[in-house]
Amino acid sequence: MLELSAVSKSYVIKDRQIEVLKNVSLKIPRGEFVAVVGRSGSGKSTLLSLMSGLDIPSSGIIRFDGAEIQSMNEDELTLFRRDRMGFVFQSYHLIPSLNALENVLLPLELAHKRKDFGRAKDLLELVGLKDRMNHRPSELSGGEQQRLSICRAVVHRPAFIFADEPTGNLDTNNGRVVMNLLREMKENSTLIMVTHDRSLASEAHRQIEIRDGEIFE
Ligand code: ADP
Ligand code: MG
Repeated sequence: MLELSAVSKSYVIKDRQIEVLKNVSLKIPRGEFVAVVGRSGSGKSTLLSLMSGLDIPSSGIIRFDGAEIQSMNEDELTLFRRDRMGFVFQSYHLIPSLNALENVLLPLELAHKRKDFGRAKDLLELVGLKDRMNHRPSELSGGEQQRLSICRAVVHRPAFIFADEPTGNLDTNNGRVVMNLLREMKENSTLIMVTHDRSLASEAHRQIEIRDGEIFE
């Protein structure tokens, strides 16, 4: 269970305070698929950063299976995120010096798990990147990097997958491939996905819309 209690987030820019999220409360049971929708700038990425412990709320409490993330120290949070979470960022965050295969294997390596080359290669093949395995991110197109980042997010079978517009740079066909992959993962994972694609959002158990800092289901 992922639980947000009265979570607010504001940013101060040039002594003006912008309240991005106001008093958001939300419970997401394990195994649920939640789509997050809303206009550009409405706070979708901010919500994902807070839920995944990447950023801290201005007020309110976030809990994973009862454990408050704000009460974890940096090391605990790093371990928790490394073992239990997978991320697809809007800007991919791939490691430039590693090739595609090494990027996919990284979460396993960081978690000191067995480097499962077979699984990593299968994932790359599934998203059509088998013949790009030895290429570095700079040698890949935006869409290819996005597909690569999705393989990396799921390779360690995380309990929580956070995906920020994971099909934003993909054509219909590749979008479908990625969704099939995420669909498969959601058998065992909680999936929280920001998307502008209505048909994708309609597949979710729940749709959460952010409007004026508040959420509507
Ligand atoms: P979305 O993902 O829905 O497009 P974001 O969560 O990225 O929206 O941003 C929501 C609002 O918060 C925007 O107005 C954005 O300018 C502001 N914002 C996001 N991150 C920061 C930051 N680090 N500092 C200041 N303002 C920010
Ligand atoms: Mg965003």
